[in-house]
Amino acid sequence: MRRVLILGGTGDAIALAEQAVQLPDVEVISSLAGRTQSPITPSGSVRFGGFGGVAGLINYLRQQQITHLIDATHPFAAQISWHAAEAAEAVGIAHLLLIRPAWERVSGDCWIEVQNHAAAAAVLPGLAERVFLTIGRQELAAFAPLKQIWFLMRMIDPPLPDMALPPGQILLDRGPFHLAAELELLTQHQIQAIVSKNSGGAATYAKVTAARELGLPIVMVQPPLLPLGDRVSEIAAALDWIQS
Ligand code: NAP
Repeated sequence: MRRVLILGGTGDAIALAEQAVQLPDVEVISSLAGRTQSPITPSGSVRFGGFGGVAGLINYLRQQQITHLIDATHPFAAQISWHAAEAAEAVGIAHLLLIRPAWERVSGDCWIEVQNHAAAAAVLPGLAERVFLTIGRQELAAFAPLKQIWFLMRMIDPPLPDMALPPGQILLDRGPFHLAAELELLTQHQIQAIVSKNSGGAATYAKVTAARELGLPIVMVQPPLLPLGDRVSEIAAALDWIQS
């Protein structure tokens, strides 16, 4: 029996769990951080909340007799990825990163690539007065000092009451997003620039196409460094890895 722990929080993690539960002699537990109020829950067992750092994750892997650890978290969730790599090595179990390749600039794209959200905020004054902020809710504070810019801020759950916010409007929505609707949103709100994480994948790519079509710049935050090791970008390859 293979006992697989999938670290989730992404559409890919859900799709992987859906298919992995159907494999013979495989038990699947998905783990969610518990940040989203109404998460989409995958098939198989699901647990919620942090493990308590690397030590907590090591304990959990041992207690649950996990044999395969798949890190299918979002590319910007770097801390859990580093914890997973360290814990898997300590316990001596197989570890895989399921990760979408970052988007690449194509002809017609106007990207300003930056390393973090503070750097993204720093380039906005002078670039645009109306900005579509599509980075979720965790990093909004970096933009809060920009009082002269109006932001359309899209996220799944509303900001917590004590979060510092820039001026603008909150838009609660969950991907996947489609091109026609993204074009309409950008036009309707007279958006002049977008701030995005370079998250890769198809679910949120429509805004990149929409920006290209409208000739808008995107301030693109580059993904953080993730641990080395076995990695795949397709669910089929992760399923093969479980069975190999
Ligand atoms: P993070 O900074 O890498 O992790 C912070 C802490 O949250 C971890 O140390 C861990 O707590 C806990 N954690 C994170 N993912 C977990 C999981 N799948 N299961 C159990 N505990 C988890 O992560 P984050 O950026 O806050 O993201 C949190 C979750 O949201 C992730 O699962 C990620 O896939 C999802 N998500 C993130 C983004 C993003 O842009 N960051 C976007 C979409 C979805 P302990 O140390 O206590 O174990």
